[in-house]
Amino acid sequence: MSQTSSPVNSTVKVSPRGANRLKSGHVWVYRSDIVSADGVDSGSLVTVTDQRGKALGTALYSSSSQIAIRMIARDAVNDFPALLRQRIQAAIAYRNTFLKPGDGDTNAYRIVFSEADFLPGLIVDRYNDILSLQILTQAMDAEPVREAIVSELNEQLKPAAIIERVDPRVRDLETLPPRDSGLLHGTKTATTFAMNGIKFHYDALEGQKTGAFLDQRENYAAAAQYAHGEALDVFCYQGGFALHLAPKCSPVTGVDSSRPALEVAEQNAALNSGLLKGKEIEWIEANAFDLLKDYATSSRHYDTIVLDPPAFGKTKRDLEAALRGYKELNLRALKMLRPGGILVTCSCSYHVGQADFLEMLGSAALDAHRNLRLIEVRGQAKDHPVLLNVPETAYLKCVIASVS
Ligand code: SAH
Repeated sequence: MSQTSSPVNSTVKVSPRGANRLKSGHVWVYRSDIVSADGVDSGSLVTVTDQRGKALGTALYSSSSQIAIRMIARDAVNDFPALLRQRIQAAIAYRNTFLKPGDGDTNAYRIVFSEADFLPGLIVDRYNDILSLQILTQAMDAEPVREAIVSELNEQLKPAAIIERVDPRVRDLETLPPRDSGLLHGTKTATTFAMNGIKFHYDALEGQKTGAFLDQRENYAAAAQYAHGEALDVFCYQGGFALHLAPKCSPVTGVDSSRPALEVAEQNAALNSGLLKGKEIEWIEANAFDLLKDYATSSRHYDTIVLDPPAFGKTKRDLEAALRGYKELNLRALKMLRPGGILVTCSCSYHVGQADFLEMLGSAALDAHRNLRLIEVRGQAKDHPVLLNVPETAYLKCVIASVS
């Protein structure tokens, strides 16, 4: 039974390596660094100590995840739901320092980003008047914790609805009972939202994949600054980059292998018809690797190319294969860009670090006999904060470069 609503009543002892990790500012301890966790309930709040019994702080405990400990406070915690409420308020206040809650041009962004907002295992995204919530750990799944989260979000943001999106794989890993995605508050499940003045459809419960890539919001605006001429958005999903480029570029083509994503992309283009002034975007359903190969061999040329593939490297072991995949894509794109062309190239694989990614790009430029000048080396939008000393919170890379 979960003890999460009660004061801390158990102790988890960690190895010197685990203790050093915490002392260096990280908030995780892996199971292999747990010395003892006898009788500790799954999902409970625990006092963490080093091997000599010195308290290191309070953490959320998972009985099944490889990440056994996620620190929540340096001191004792007496009322976890009250702490959660404070942390949610702080996360909202943080966003309000750079985003205006009433701004109709941008009303979709991440409100809570797990560890980076000191709420490990909780993600909350705002899509205009609908909040989408994800619970990723045993501790956050406890009923009193869920109640506190939903009630605080309602109080602070008064959304039309709050929807929980369930990732069955995560529940399985955390040995949590299966649960369906669904409404936690209200009845509304679809809306429109805006990023940088561009409108998008949001349907929380329909389709294969819901939601947008909010982490790219600032990169869309940055890419639009330099984009020109003929543009190709590869891995376009529901048109995030393509729609931002369309006011500056012509023609614009978006490529993705998912038909449902392209259907939404087309609807999104219609939503923005005023801004596009009758310009059509061509949406192509294809495997991007095959299509780029065909286009490169048939000497197609573009002035702006966006590459935003799904994560190739999900684990450290995949790193080399991931870098080969990125290189193949970037090499083809570089060959197709006209002199003065703009390459916008992204990676959302945490295991591919910024240095690896730039090295891969440099090597692709050499092989393509092109010179690349870096215009901007960017990361994820500010509403997905990067917590220094917790490197896992920095995962997105977006390089904008000029090709000659
Ligand atoms: N650029 C998008 C996000 C891209 S997410 C945005 O800003 O919203 C990655 C996309 O790659 C998904 O839409 C997925 O359907 C697509 N995808 C995955 N494998 C693919 C492949 N081999 N060829 C084309 N698209 C692919």
